[in-house]
Amino acid sequence: MIDAPQTTAPVPLPWLADPLRAALETQRAHALLIHGPQGVGQFEMALTLAQAWLCESPPSQSTRPCGHCASCRLVQARSHPDLMVLVPEALREALGWSTDDAGEEGGSSKGETSGKRKPSKDIRVDEVRRIVSFAQTTAARAHGKVVVVFPAERMNGISANALLKTLEEPPGNLRFVLAGASADALLPTIRSRCQAVRLDLPEPTVAAAWLQAQGVMQPEVLLAAAGGQPEEALSWFREGLDARAWLALPEQLARGDAAGLTAWPLSRVIDMLFKVCHDAMRAAVGAAPRYFPFGLINGRASIEELTRWYREIGRVARHAEHPWQAALTIELLVTQAHTALTVPKSTTAVLRVR
Ligand SMILES: [Zn+2]
Repeated sequence: MIDAPQTTAPVPLPWLADPLRAALETQRAHALLIHGPQGVGQFEMALTLAQAWLCESPPSQSTRPCGHCASCRLVQARSHPDLMVLVPEALREALGWSTDDAGEEGGSSKGETSGKRKPSKDIRVDEVRRIVSFAQTTAARAHGKVVVVFPAERMNGISANALLKTLEEPPGNLRFVLAGASADALLPTIRSRCQAVRLDLPEPTVAAAWLQAQGVMQPEVLLAAAGGQPEEALSWFREGLDARAWLALPEQLARGDAAGLTAWPLSRVIDMLFKVCHDAMRAAVGAAPRYFPFGLINGRASIEELTRWYREIGRVARHAEHPWQAALTIELLVTQAHTALTVPKSTTAVLRVR
C-alpha cells in the first residue's frame, strides 16, 4: 500500500504520485509525451500535470496541484479557460469530457456528436486546428496555457502534421502534454519534439487495493486477466465481468459453451480468447500462466491445435472493427476453442472425436 502524500491534492490513481512528483521536478520541456502500457492512467497523469502547471497556489505553501485554488477548481470543473483537452469523440463521455470542451472552442458541436454520424475514434484534423487557434489566444489567467492530447496515437498523419509547427514553437506560455499507450505509433517528428515520460505497470498489490476500493471483488483475478493494467481491469468489471466468470472461462471454452460470451463486444471476446489461448500454450510447454492462476489450465492440449486456434483468433481480430454477425463469429471461435483445448498432445493416446 502507498499512503497518499500529505501535502498534495489526492492524485486520481495512487501509483501516479511518484511519477507525477518526478515529472514536476525534472521536466522543463514545453511538450511532454506520457506513454506506457494501456490502462495505467496516462490520461489522469496528463490532466494532473496540466492542473499542476496551472495551479495558482504559491509553491512554498503547497505541493502542486493544490486541489483548492481557483485554477484547480476550474480544471476539476472541466472549465478552465487556459486548458484545452483533446480526446476523440468516442472517448469523451468515458473520460468525462463530453460537454464543456467540445462546446467552448466552437469545434464540433454536441449536436453533431450525438447526431447521425458515428462518434469518431480518431483525433481529427479539424480538432487539431482548434489547438492552433487556441495557441494564438491570450491566456485568461496567470499561469500560461496547456493542451492535453489523448490518446496521441489516435492522430492520423494529417492531424499530426497539422500539429507539428505549434508543437515545435508554441507561442507564448503554452505547454503540451501528449499521452497515450504507444510512443512508437506516433510520427517520429512528433516524438522528437516531446520529452518522454514513461509510466510502468503499478505494483500488483497497489493496483489490487485500488481496484478493491472501486468495489471489485477478488481484484487480483481481474488484474491478472487485464495483464496487470488496473484501469482495464476496472472497465471489464464495470462491463460485467467478475472473477468467477473469468476463472470459469477456460473450462467453459473447453466445453464449447458460448453462453454469455455473445453478449460481449467482439473485440472483448477476442481479447479473452487470446488470453486463454496464450496461457494454454504456456501450459502446454510447461511455462507459468500469465492471465489465469497456476493450474487452472492443464498442459495437455496439442500445441498444433492451439497454434491453429491462435491464428484463427488473429484472423478474426483483424476484421473485428466490422463485426458482421458478431454472435455467429463468437460461436465459431468457441467451437474452435473447444477443439484446441480438448485435442490432446498425442492424438493416439486418447480416442476423441474431432
Ligand atoms: Zn491549485
